[in-house]
Amino acid sequence: MLYSKLFGRTKHEVPADANSKNAELLTKAGYIDKLAAGIYNYLPLGIRVLQKINQIIREEMNAVGGQEILMPALQPIDIWEQTGRNKTMDEILYRTKGGEKDFVFGPSHEETVTPLVKKFVQSYKDFPLAVYQLQTKFRNEPRAKSGLLRGREFGMKDMYSFHANEKDLDEYYLKVMEAYLNVYSRCGMEAYVIEASGGAFSDKYSHEFSIKTPAGEDIMIFCEKCKFAQNLEIAEGKYDNPSSDEEEKPLKKVEVKRGKSIEENARAHSCEDWRVLKSVVYMVEEMGPIGILIRGDFQLNEEKLTRYFKKRLRPATLEELKKFDLVEGFISPVLADKKPNNKISFIADQSIKNMKNFVTGANEKDVDWANVNIGRDFEVKDFADFVAVTASFNCPKCGHKLSEVKVVEAGNIFKLGTKFSEAFDLKFTDSDGAAKSVVMGCYGIGNTRMVGTIVEASHDEKGIIWPKTVAPYLVHLMHLGNDDEAKAMGEKLYEILQKERIEVLYDDRDCGAGQKLNDADLIGIPLRIVVSKRTLAEQNIEWKERANKEAKNVKISDLVEKIKEFTNI
Ligand SMILES: [Zn+2]
Repeated sequence: MLYSKLFGRTKHEVPADANSKNAELLTKAGYIDKLAAGIYNYLPLGIRVLQKINQIIREEMNAVGGQEILMPALQPIDIWEQTGRNKTMDEILYRTKGGEKDFVFGPSHEETVTPLVKKFVQSYKDFPLAVYQLQTKFRNEPRAKSGLLRGREFGMKDMYSFHANEKDLDEYYLKVMEAYLNVYSRCGMEAYVIEASGGAFSDKYSHEFSIKTPAGEDIMIFCEKCKFAQNLEIAEGKYDNPSSDEEEKPLKKVEVKRGKSIEENARAHSCEDWRVLKSVVYMVEEMGPIGILIRGDFQLNEEKLTRYFKKRLRPATLEELKKFDLVEGFISPVLADKKPNNKISFIADQSIKNMKNFVTGANEKDVDWANVNIGRDFEVKDFADFVAVTASFNCPKCGHKLSEVKVVEAGNIFKLGTKFSEAFDLKFTDSDGAAKSVVMGCYGIGNTRMVGTIVEASHDEKGIIWPKTVAPYLVHLMHLGNDDEAKAMGEKLYEILQKERIEVLYDDRDCGAGQKLNDADLIGIPLRIVVSKRTLAEQNIEWKERANKEAKNVKISDLVEKIKEFTNI
């Protein structure tokens, strides 16, 4: 491709509203152009990258038996009503009318693929079956602000698998997990597999694939030693139990002027933060108020709490606390403090299970209890894991210190079970003659998001550094200066490389050397070949790999062979 003819040019000013590195670099380099928040045009360079990613995804999905199909983006609302996701996903659905009928622009395709498969499968012999597509998705994303990482219209590869039983799904799920890791490594990225929640209201099993980048919006809890990666929302960690060996001391009431923070509380009692028993009250849907107890130096993880109850919940308001005879900042689980309107029962994080001699409020302003002990002074209905794990915890597998790492989620896979097959009555006849619900899995990779993620993970102050496998071209050829000989050699090499089927972008413009070199760094093609009067004098070209700092001279006669070696991917 001749750069002078390429549609979409480099821009040297940062677009005013590019609020992420990927949007800034991809726009400046001429890969994409924003139409509206979270909605982008792909220019020829951008399409080439996307198509290469798509090809890698296709090859890996085909390798695990996936068959490519294409389902409509425009979907009648009634299939969404059938699963109830018209309500649960209401906030992100784009709706439209076609005549009298209501439609949605598909944010996902379970509602389309399940009835489709129902038309073609009858017997256990039809399984396993996996179909996938590369399709545009639409989600009314309130935070569309990270360039290609969070779009309102975006590309996705979504695969759905269908099985006669859980065991078959489990086996296939692991195969797809491997295929996903292949996709990321072939795209030049190292992905971490993280066990995740299948959503707060589900027991279902899922995994996320995350790529480390400083721009990541998600946090991964990571162990550098054993490489155990966890999703922040459900991460587990080890911690010490500082007071478990103590004798239970006599309960006593103390008058104390203190602030409401844990630190102020600990200071007022001259004790450590962990000795303060943190008591909070949540309003749980259909259940009412529930008290939660946790160590003062730990934070409560609402996601874990929601998963525990499998119901919606929120912290009680000040008015509600008053109604239950609870004094804000001095909430007490102590049995002696029970009042007529305060029949709240308490559950606790397991971190307090073996601890002794807590400090806690006495449900009266400026009055606390000291030496509070579980069982003797208060009851705990149940212990579970509610703690928000941070880098101050240790790895649950090997005990090494954990760290918090910023990541971009680059894909996820779910075991759906029979949720969708039941909603659409997708059944099959098993080998024993019984009619059973089909077991399903689903597997997503945001392919347009991958373009942005690769840029976030692989760039420097000058521009993008594409991995060879997804670069729009492999060679960025240019001649420098007005020298006729250099220009003629540039054109000759361009022809030779094209004949050799080497993907080459030739900067044939008559502009300054600085502009050409800066543009090449910004565009980020893996290999830059420069022809100039100086190098020609020795029958050389200058060879510079985008990922390396140093340039070297290579004999023109060796060039094609060396490029083939370099681009052998
Ligand atoms: Zn570890």
